[in-house]
Amino acid sequence: MLSTMQDVQLNISRILEHGRKVHGRSTVTTWTGEAEPHRRTFAEIGDRAAQLANALRDELGVEPGSVLATLMWNNAEHVEAYFAIPSMGAVLHTLNLRLPPEQLVFIVNHAADRVVLVNGTLLPLLAPLLPQLPTVEHVVVSGAGDRSVLDGLDVRVHDYEALLAGRSDHYDWPELDERQAAAMCYTSGTTGDPKGVIYSHRSIYLHSMQVNMAESMGLTDRDTSLVVVPQFHVNAWGLPHATFMTGINLLMPDRFLQPAPLAEMIEREKPTHAAAVPTIWQGLLAEVTARPRDLTSMKQVTIGGAACPPSLMEAYEKLGVRLCHAWGMTETSPLGTMAHPPAGLSAEEEWPYRITQGRFPAGVEARLIGPGGDRLPWDGESAGELEVRGTWIAGAYYGGASGEPLRPADKFSADGWLKTGDVGVISADGYLTLTDRAKDVIKSGGEWISSVELENALMAHPEVAEAAVVAVPDDKWGERPLATVVLKDGATVDYTGLRTFLGQSIAKWQLPERWTFIEAVPKTSVGKFDKKVIRRQYADGVLD
Ligand code: ADP
Repeated sequence: MLSTMQDVQLNISRILEHGRKVHGRSTVTTWTGEAEPHRRTFAEIGDRAAQLANALRDELGVEPGSVLATLMWNNAEHVEAYFAIPSMGAVLHTLNLRLPPEQLVFIVNHAADRVVLVNGTLLPLLAPLLPQLPTVEHVVVSGAGDRSVLDGLDVRVHDYEALLAGRSDHYDWPELDERQAAAMCYTSGTTGDPKGVIYSHRSIYLHSMQVNMAESMGLTDRDTSLVVVPQFHVNAWGLPHATFMTGINLLMPDRFLQPAPLAEMIEREKPTHAAAVPTIWQGLLAEVTARPRDLTSMKQVTIGGAACPPSLMEAYEKLGVRLCHAWGMTETSPLGTMAHPPAGLSAEEEWPYRITQGRFPAGVEARLIGPGGDRLPWDGESAGELEVRGTWIAGAYYGGASGEPLRPADKFSADGWLKTGDVGVISADGYLTLTDRAKDVIKSGGEWISSVELENALMAHPEVAEAAVVAVPDDKWGERPLATVVLKDGATVDYTGLRTFLGQSIAKWQLPERWTFIEAVPKTSVGKFDKKVIRRQYADGVLD
C-alpha cells in the first residue's frame, strides 16, 4: 500500500528559498582583513544566487548536468555558488586549493568541469593549469586579483559582479529528481588517484537536517558559526546548507586562516560555534597562550577530520570552550558520529564519552567487521573495521562521464556498505572509539599498536606541541613505531624523558625506540598529519 503523503522532492532550491524568506535577516560575514568585515544577509544571498543562475544559463550556456568547479575560499560568493549551481540542476564541484597541481589537473579533467569560479587571489594557482584543462570554457573571477595572468589563454573570462549586475533576482528553479547529482567532492587521494564522491539533492537535504539536530550541531538563528573547515572539505561539513534551514549566521574567514586573524575574528565577532580540524585548534591554542584572547563566546566547537587529542580538549576546557568530537569522511557527507555524552552524567562521568569519536545518528547504520570477515559485537572491546550504510553515505565513486560508477572491493562490501578503513570498537550504547586507520596501525610482532594512542599520550606532555607516530619497517618485529615530535618553545625534555612519560600510560612493548624531533608535522591538503610524507622523510629516526 502506498502512503497518502505528498511526494515533494528534496531539492536544494527549497533550502535556499526557505533561508531567503524565513531567515532573510541572518547574515554571512566574510573576513576581509580590513577594519570592517563584509556582511550580506540571507535575503541578499538568495537574490544573488538567482542572479548568478540567470547569468550562468544566459551568458555561459550552463545546462542541467553541467559541472561547474569552484576554486574559492570560504566567503559569501562561495555560498551563493553553493546554492545557485545545484538549484538550477547543474553540479557544484569544489576544488581543494591546497592539492598539488597535478592532482588538481586530474580532478578537473576527470569531472569534465566546464566553468571555474575562482577568487581573484587564487588566479596565480589556476592560470598555469588552464592549458592542461581542455574542458574548461569559462573562468568567472570574483574579488580582487591580477586578471592579466589569464591573458592569451583559451578561455572566456568573466567578472563575477559584472555577470550578476542588472540580472533578475528571480529564477524558476526546476523541479529536480532528488536523486540527481548536486555536488561533488574528491577524496584527497592519500593512496592512488583522488576518487570522486557525488552527493545528491536528497543526501544533502537529509544530511543538513541531521546537522541541525540537537544531537549533532543543534544550532539556531541565535548562533553564529565560524566555518574554518574549507568549503572544499566535504562541503564545509554541511554547514552552509544547514544554516539556510535554520538561520544560523555564518562567519567566513576567507583566506585569513592563520591563528592570529582567527583569534581576532573570534574576539570581535563572538561566534557561538566553530568547526575545524585539530591542527587548526592546536595552532590557535599556541597563539592564545602567547597572546591571550577571549574565546568564551564559542559555546561549542565541532572538531573532527582527525582524532582530537584529549589533552587539546582539556586545554580548551580551561579557556571556557567546549570541543565536541565528530567523525566523518568525504564518503559520509561527512557527518558520521558526534560525541555528545548521554544524559544524567556528572562532568567527570561525561569525559570518557566525550573523548570517543561519538555516537551514530539514526540515519547512519554501523557494523564492525573482524579480520576474518566476521561481524563483531558492540561490546567496547572487539576491534574491527568500521562499515557504514545510510542515505548520506556513498555507495560508489564517480567513474567519469562515460564510465560506470566504481565500487572497488576494498571500499565497498558485496552487500553495499562503505568500508571506512577505520579500525575501532563500539560500545553497547553506540559510541565509536577509533584506534587507527587500518593503514596507519603499527603491526609489531603479530600485535597491533595504535599510532593514535601513542600520539594522544605524547601530546599530553606539557612540553610537546604536536606528535605524529608512524610505522617503520623492523627486521625483528616487522614494524615498530617511530615518534616524530614537535616541542614547544623553550622545552628541555629529551627522548628518554618522553619515553618515561609515555611509560606511565602505555604498555612497555608499545613504547617507541625510534624518535626524531622535527620543526612541524607535515600536513595534508586538509590539515591532517600526512603520515605518508612522515614515513618517507623520517623513516630512519634516531634510536633511543
Ligand atoms: P582523507 O581520507 O583524504 O583524509 P577525508 O577527509 O574523507 O579525506 O578523511 C576521512 C578520514 O579521516 C576517516 O576515514 C578517518 O580516518 C579520519 N577521521 C575523521 N574524523 C576523525 C576523528 N574524529 N577521529 C579519528 N579519525 C578521524
